[in-house]
Amino acid sequence: MKAMSQTAAHLLNADLHCHSNVSDGTLSPEDVASRAHRNGVALWSLTDHDEVGGQARARQAALSLGMSYLTGAEISVTFAGKTVHIVGLGFDEAHPALVQGLADTRGGRERRARDMAADLERVGIKGAFEGALTYVGNPDLISRTHFARYLVEAGVCSDTHEVFKRFLTEGKPGYVEHRWANLRDAVDWIVTAGGIAVVAHPGRYDFSPNEEYALFTEFKGHGGQGVEVVTGSHSPAEYSKYADLALEFDLLASRGSDFHDPAESHTDLGTLPDLPARLTPVWEALAHRAHHPVG
Ligand code: AMP
Ligand code: MN
Ligand code: MN
Ligand code: MN
Repeated sequence: MKAMSQTAAHLLNADLHCHSNVSDGTLSPEDVASRAHRNGVALWSLTDHDEVGGQARARQAALSLGMSYLTGAEISVTFAGKTVHIVGLGFDEAHPALVQGLADTRGGRERRARDMAADLERVGIKGAFEGALTYVGNPDLISRTHFARYLVEAGVCSDTHEVFKRFLTEGKPGYVEHRWANLRDAVDWIVTAGGIAVVAHPGRYDFSPNEEYALFTEFKGHGGQGVEVVTGSHSPAEYSKYADLALEFDLLASRGSDFHDPAESHTDLGTLPDLPARLTPVWEALAHRAHHPVG
């Protein structure tokens, strides 16, 4: 890649995980692109949850600003009874199997949101479904984040992190068990569409060592090739832990802020530490899939 030939690949300012208002971010794809560019990002991917509706806009905005672009999405998966996120990068966003798989994965969200609202009503919080909807940019993609924003507006909590601590998570009011995609299917959709599958923020899952080993073993068995090492969700100790894991499982390493909103997100676009030099960046293997600005 042009932008990448001048410096060592691991030093590239790549941000391959973030959200727009096409899922649960608050900025438009164009505004996320501008912010990434202002922060020095050279290779960018917008990875909205279970949705590729923002890809054309994101790519166009990136290229017009002079940034290279990889298509992206973050797919919700159920593995060992827990929700795991798989980021897909560099795939063909029009591939029928991927398009259908994402549509099926999104499909249950409205029902789930209505059940969440009913559960919140039992603890005295009324109108949460309608309230959350006022924050939704894409009606197919109502998420817990939209409920969190509404509960802050309603004065129930002072910020969205408090909401997730007191509500919407396992064992708390407003949490509704949900079955997302299978790990095998999610990896398949990405790979069949020409992309690379990456385990997102593995430090967040609260798995036992055995469960985590099973996740990575099965992920690789299904054709998964990457892991997020440097992410806004990891501590510096987790950068090291997952750098070791990337080497142990022979996985490509990714880097991404998981930016959602200027006020809510503690990690801004393009501001994370570089990938450790001992790892192979996922963007090396995706060089042929990236879109570059002309000139
Ligand atoms: P959903 O896909 O509807 O289950 O919503 C998941 C989203 O909620 C994640 O992508 C995050 O944006 C957000 N989220 C989950 N847990 C937390 C947390 N503890 N604090 C803040 N945001 C969270
Ligand atoms: Mn999110
Ligand atoms: Mn995630
Ligand atoms: Mn994310």
